[in-house]
Amino acid sequence: MSIQDNLSRVQESIADATLRTGRPAGSVRLVAVSKFHPVDTVLEAVQSGQRLFGENRVQEAEEKFSGVLVHHPDVQLHMIGSLQRNKVAKILPVTSCVQSVDRRELLLEIEKRAALLGKSVDILFEIHTGEESKAGFASEKDLFEAIDLLAECGHTRCSGLMTMAPFTSNETSIRASFRKLVDLQYRCQQEYPALDFSTLSMGMSNDYRIAIEEGSTMVRIGTAIFGERPV
Ligand SMILES: *Cc1c(COP(=O)(O)O)cnc(C)c1O
Repeated sequence: MSIQDNLSRVQESIADATLRTGRPAGSVRLVAVSKFHPVDTVLEAVQSGQRLFGENRVQEAEEKFSGVLVHHPDVQLHMIGSLQRNKVAKILPVTSCVQSVDRRELLLEIEKRAALLGKSVDILFEIHTGEESKAGFASEKDLFEAIDLLAECGHTRCSGLMTMAPFTSNETSIRASFRKLVDLQYRCQQEYPALDFSTLSMGMSNDYRIAIEEGSTMVRIGTAIFGERPV
């Protein structure tokens, strides 16, 4: 199977799941997660029409995408992995959205660096919803304290929430994890009506159909597009 074939298959399956939930076609965006795959693989996906990518390591993302973005200015890269504060300056020039904002200090550093670059950056707050994943805000109180900081942030734009479901074949606990994110989105919209929480980034290769059924608006898919990651 070529990357083009895989992309078509995944897109069809996203479209099916979207229609099943009664939502309009195109309401779920696909992030192609290219981590561990070489830049040629990224370019193959670009040739097949894919424009939105995700990476989880700063060094790798910067090396691969600084060139891609020069030649394909309509390509966008989202940072989806845990991010150290001292790496923010390096990743911001190549990323349009940090999906993995999991603490206040990171948000403040993103704001500071985005201001220095004169650039506006989208962020998603990463939420801990499953037992097995450790990343993300674990309490509403911590999350709201971080969201409160946005009032002082002119270069950082909230667009929603992100989570990873537990890595399990137990569909009930996967659904429970996604439902927590949907519930929290509702709480955020009530508490902060002026902010945008419309994006729900949830669903990976093994659980994206479930995620879409539960209300995902953005799925992050690596293996189903690019195959197993080289080790
Ligand atoms: C690697 C990764 C993905 C993609 O995982 P696949 O199972 O390969 O689809 C999605 N989200 C995050 C945060 C990741 O690190």
